[in-house]
Amino acid sequence: MDVAVQQKKLQIQESRQRKRTPPLIEAKIEGMHSVPLFPSNPDPDERLEQIHQLLLKHFGKPEPRDLWDPLSQFIYSLLSSRTKTETTYAVVAQLRQRFGSWENLRDATLAEIENAIQDITFPEQKAVQLKSALQQITQRYGSLTLDFLAQYRTDKIRAWLEQFPGVGSKTSGAVVNFSTLRRRALCLDSHHLRVTQRLGLTPRADAHTTEERLMRLVPESWTAEKMDEDHRLIKKLGQTICTFAEPKCRICPLLGVCKYGQRQIAVNASEAPEPRYSGS
Ligand code: SF4
Repeated sequence: MDVAVQQKKLQIQESRQRKRTPPLIEAKIEGMHSVPLFPSNPDPDERLEQIHQLLLKHFGKPEPRDLWDPLSQFIYSLLSSRTKTETTYAVVAQLRQRFGSWENLRDATLAEIENAIQDITFPEQKAVQLKSALQQITQRYGSLTLDFLAQYRTDKIRAWLEQFPGVGSKTSGAVVNFSTLRRRALCLDSHHLRVTQRLGLTPRADAHTTEERLMRLVPESWTAEKMDEDHRLIKKLGQTICTFAEPKCRICPLLGVCKYGQRQIAVNASEAPEPRYSGS
């Protein structure tokens, strides 16, 4: 065969090969392994799945959740904002023991409730919100339960819950996703907001907008259980590595997919002082 024809055939084959292989950007940061990043035109669904798999590999699979009834989860979530998880669990356990039933908690005085939740943040404000919500649920439904919500659509349930003072999208998301209702929903706490914004998945915005944008990226195939698992993995990352004050990007399992983290490392490296000359 003519050499020119052979060369032309080779060029065509190489060009086809290049088209089949999506270009991977390589992170080239001094002192790090070369890390493959997202394809240059990533499918959003793949990004969340990829992040999920990296976190699973790093932290392992979270223990299955002990599902509570919607009312117990509602009480826990209402008390939990700005309070450590262990503290809130301990306070809810003490409430169960001290009052014996959620009806007794509802009928207790504000002073008694406030005293019983002293260990959480803003006990005075939360005692008012809690008593008021328990009273209103009883008035509207006729008894103190949220089990009836199971017959409604997820968006209706969340809108209904968010009528109560102190109940925002984080609490309503937790009730529908973490309780026996087990619906597909995101519960965006402060860790989730910070991590997803640093990862460039969501803009700097309030929880409502962030949730709406993030829901667009959640693959259709993700079940309520998987969304709960993802929440716990992201939360763990936010508590241990992607912390508010000082993200530990160098040891983060998501560094390869986080441009913010790569920039932080590059900036820190450029600001490091020159080594001093110690020759004689
Ligand atoms: S690389 Fe840094 S900023 Fe990005 S998720 Fe990890 S810790 Fe957070």
